[in-house]
Amino acid sequence: MKRGHYVTEAIILESFDFGESDRILGFCTRDFGKVKGIAKGARRSRKRFVGRLEPASSIKLFFHYNEKSELVRVDDAALINGFDGLRGDMEIFTAACYLVELTGAFTRPGDSQPEVFSLLKSFLSFMDNGGEALLLCRFFEVKLLSLLGYMPGFDDCVSCGEVVSSPVGGELFRFSPIKGGLLCRGCVVTGEKAVGLSAGTARFLQAVERMGPDKLHRLRPGALFTEEAGPLLDTFIKIRLGHGLKTKSFMEQMQSINPGAY
Ligand SMILES: [Zn+2]
Repeated sequence: MKRGHYVTEAIILESFDFGESDRILGFCTRDFGKVKGIAKGARRSRKRFVGRLEPASSIKLFFHYNEKSELVRVDDAALINGFDGLRGDMEIFTAACYLVELTGAFTRPGDSQPEVFSLLKSFLSFMDNGGEALLLCRFFEVKLLSLLGYMPGFDDCVSCGEVVSSPVGGELFRFSPIKGGLLCRGCVVTGEKAVGLSAGTARFLQAVERMGPDKLHRLRPGALFTEEAGPLLDTFIKIRLGHGLKTKSFMEQMQSINPGAY
């Protein structure tokens, strides 16, 4: 990027106060990947910024880039969609913030990934329109991992490459979150750490990966999917990132207090 003024569409990933009157922001932009910036005087200039710099909002971002600074200077922001439907309910809002935090954690400044921007925007919109929050989180995880080339395969053994045609040990495949794929019979006995995965859940995950985001609402998973895919994706993502996510632990806490949450 050359020094100068730019305009792009962006989703706000994070937003926090800095000093007396400024705000530090993280964006997932349509044209420039992840961008970090500072909105000087944002807390004083209510006219320019108020209500437009909240996480999980979609905005038209006007900024100035200078290669000498790690942060771009945010000159203006015009709200495109505040996704107000997400903000009245703590559980739904936390789920939306999880999508945002996950996107931020898996992307780096400088990588232009318009598909990631579109994916995040679509899923915030699905959630805003009353989609099932937890299921949307799972679908989003699969789509994001797939876009970034991290989605595990479910055909060959990740350890030795052999085709895994039938489940190992009763009804279940064995999935290694550390290696990121299925294990064959031989690799399971050699002591690989693995979690159980039914053929149905493996097929369902593949279907989610293949299907366009706007068609995903047609998929209705059974209880087994939630039971198996949840822990599998959670562990896999944690290992990939090398750390947990704040919003994910908050969602887990809310679920432990109220098992009916989400
Ligand atoms: Zn193997």
